[in-house]
Amino acid sequence: MSEIYSGTKFETKFLGERFEYIKRTDELIYWGKYLSEHRMAPKYPGGSSGNISFRLSEMGKQFIITATSTDLENLKSDDFVLVENVFLAEKKIVVFGKKEPSSESMLHFSIYAQRPDVMAIFHGHWPDLISLATQFGFVQTKNEQEYGSLALVNEVLEVIDNNNFIIMKNHGFLSMAKSIAQAGVIIQSIKLSTITQLENPDA
Ligand SMILES: [Zn+2]
Repeated sequence: MSEIYSGTKFETKFLGERFEYIKRTDELIYWGKYLSEHRMAPKYPGGSSGNISFRLSEMGKQFIITATSTDLENLKSDDFVLVENVFLAEKKIVVFGKKEPSSESMLHFSIYAQRPDVMAIFHGHWPDLISLATQFGFVQTKNEQEYGSLALVNEVLEVIDNNNFIIMKNHGFLSMAKSIAQAGVIIQSIKLSTITQLENPDA
């Protein structure tokens, strides 16, 4: 990952601070801690390098996502934003919440739009795994792009097909599934299947 984090790259329109807490958010809190504890979303000063979301209803546009610059290890209810809509051409995001939504909100939105079967998305950086992407034959985007950019969105959409796990070149991973739990199972199983390499990279 070559780029230093410098905030979101879109305009946010806040419709209000409050929205009803959705019980499924508890599952994101659990998996945020998991990603952090397993070095899949390394911390930087002021946040974690990852973002996680779930879609409210099948086929719907609305989703809950972590705010930008949150500590995934200790997510609190204020650390989530309800995204109502995204206008990609204008780079404008309409939300309820108290904080700016994740810098990759345009990416999450676009994946949900393209893949009606996907109800939850985890994105993290997991440096050990990124370096093994080619060796393990993971589906990977062709070119490295700036985080939070439409160019990155397009790279992902180009290779996403029906894949539920992809690597964004020199950047991070995306785990996508029909439920939050299933998105977690995917990363657990990848960790298991690559564990020797991950824990003994020089072996
Ligand atoms: Zn990232």
